[in-house]
Amino acid sequence: MKNATPRQIATISALIISGVILLILLVVKLLLPDYVNWIIVIAAPLVTFISGSLVFYYFMENFIYRKIKLIYKTIYDTKIPDGDKPSKPKIKNDIIDYAESEVIEWKKSKTKELKKRKKHEQFRKEFLGNVFHELKTPIFNIQGYLETLIDGGFKDENINFKFLNKANKNVNRMAEIVDDLQMISNLEDGSFALSMNKFDITKLVAEIIDQNDIRASKKNISLEIKEGCEKSFIVFADREMIQQVLNNLVTNSMKYGKDGGRTQVGIYDMNKNVLVEVTDNGIGIDTKHLPRIFERFYRVDKDRSRELGGSGLGLSIVKHIIEAHGQAVNVRSAPKVGSTFGFTLTKTK
Ligand code: ADP
Repeated sequence: MKNATPRQIATISALIISGVILLILLVVKLLLPDYVNWIIVIAAPLVTFISGSLVFYYFMENFIYRKIKLIYKTIYDTKIPDGDKPSKPKIKNDIIDYAESEVIEWKKSKTKELKKRKKHEQFRKEFLGNVFHELKTPIFNIQGYLETLIDGGFKDENINFKFLNKANKNVNRMAEIVDDLQMISNLEDGSFALSMNKFDITKLVAEIIDQNDIRASKKNISLEIKEGCEKSFIVFADREMIQQVLNNLVTNSMKYGKDGGRTQVGIYDMNKNVLVEVTDNGIGIDTKHLPRIFERFYRVDKDRSRELGGSGLGLSIVKHIIEAHGQAVNVRSAPKVGSTFGFTLTKTK
C-alpha cells in the first residue's frame, strides 16, 4: 500500500466493503435461506464494488489529492528561488510520495536556513560590538582632552598643545578605522571596481621597502628583497590596491617583528601566477589563531595590537583585496620563529 495510487486505494477500499457485504449476505443466506436469493447475494456486492470504487476514486481525486497537489505545488514554488529552479517533476498519481519527500526536504532546507541566519546574526552582533568597542576608546579620549582644555586647561601652556595633539591623534585613529571599514564593506558588496593594469611587481616591492626604510631602521630591522628574488615580473592587478596589501604586510612584519630582526620580501615565478611572500623573524603566531587571523578585528594579543596602533582590520583588507583579484592569501607561522604571509597575482607579459 506504500506506493498505492488513488485508483488502487479506491479499488481496495471498495473490495473490502463489498467483501464485508458478501460475507453478511452469505451468513443471512445460510441462516435464512428463503429470505434472500442468490442473485442478491452476488449482485449486491458486485454493485457495491463498482459504485464504491467509482465514488472513492472521485472523492480521493477531487478532495484529497487535489488538496495535496495544491500543498505540494505551494511548497515547491516557494521553496526554491526562481533562478535555481530545476524543471518541475511530473505530478503523477504518486503525489503523496512526492509531497512527503518534498516536505522533508523543505524542512531540512528551512532548518539549514535558520542555522545560517542565526550564525549571520551572531556574526553581525559580534561585528557591531567590535565597531563600538574600537570607536569608544578614541571618543572617550577626545572627550577627556577637550573637557580638560575647556575647564581651563587651554590656558596652561604645559598641556594645551599636548592635549590638542593627543585629541587630534585620536580623531585620526577613528578616521582610519572608518576608512578601513568602508573599504572592507565596498570590497564585500562588490561596489568597488578594481582598476586593473600591467605593472612590475618587483619594482613596487622595492618602492614599498624604500617608503618603510625609516620605520625599519627605528626598530633596527633589515628590510629587503630576498636574495635571488630581484628578477622583474609583470603582473595584471590593481596597483594601488596591491600597494596597500604590501604595505599592510610589511608594516605588520615590523610591528610584530623583533628589535634587530629582519623582513624579507620574496617574489617567485609560479607559471601562470607570481607568488609574493613577506617573511619576518618576529613573535610569530600560534597555530590555533591562524584560521581566524584574516577575520575582521581578530587579534592575537589585543592590548599589544592597540598599543601598536592596530585595529585588527589590516589582514582582513589584505584578504579581501587579493580575493577580489580572484587570487589567494596564505600564512605560515610559528611562535618565536616568525611568520610568512604570501599571496598570488596573475603573471602577464
Ligand atoms: P592589527 O591592526 O592588529 O595589526 P591585522 O589585521 O593587521 O591587525 O592583524 C591581525 C593580527 O594578526 C594582529 O593583531 C597580530 O596579532 C597578528 N599578526 C599579523 N601580522 C603578524 C606578523 N607578521 N607576526 C605576528 N603576528 C601578526
